Amino acid sequence: MKKPSYPEDHVSYQLHIRVRGNVRIVAGALGSCNFPAGHYVYTGSARRNLGARVARHLSDSKKLRWHIDYLLAHPEVEILRVETSAIPECRWNQQLAGSIPLPGFGASDCRRHCGSHLKYLGPNQ
Ligand SMILES: [Zn+2]
Repeated sequence: MKKPSYPEDHVSYQLHIRVRGNVRIVAGALGSCNFPAGHYVYTGSARRNLGARVARHLSDSKKLRWHIDYLLAHPEVEILRVETSAIPECRWNQQLAGSIPLPGFGASDCRRHCGSHLKYLGPNQ
């Protein structure tokens, strides 16, 4: 897949994710995680080379490393679209309406008490 390119000042990205059915994964130290079907948004950042980070998320062939990798690897899960921004990831995440399905998910590096960098926005449209 071609590496996407984004404006230079963009440091954060949001993955809009569709979970088609109820999904259960085992994600590293978090253990067993259940995700009801619906629309989710994952917020992350890459200070350098945002395009490479997004391309990694979109790739099917990679070592599973972060919590989000385990979710995206599930066959019932797909990325609908990607948005990027200059807004710092935690602020952008906190601005997003939605609930936290799984405390701690995707927040291993979070220092701003987001609770999780994955939010549930509601059922699929
Ligand atoms: Zn955060």
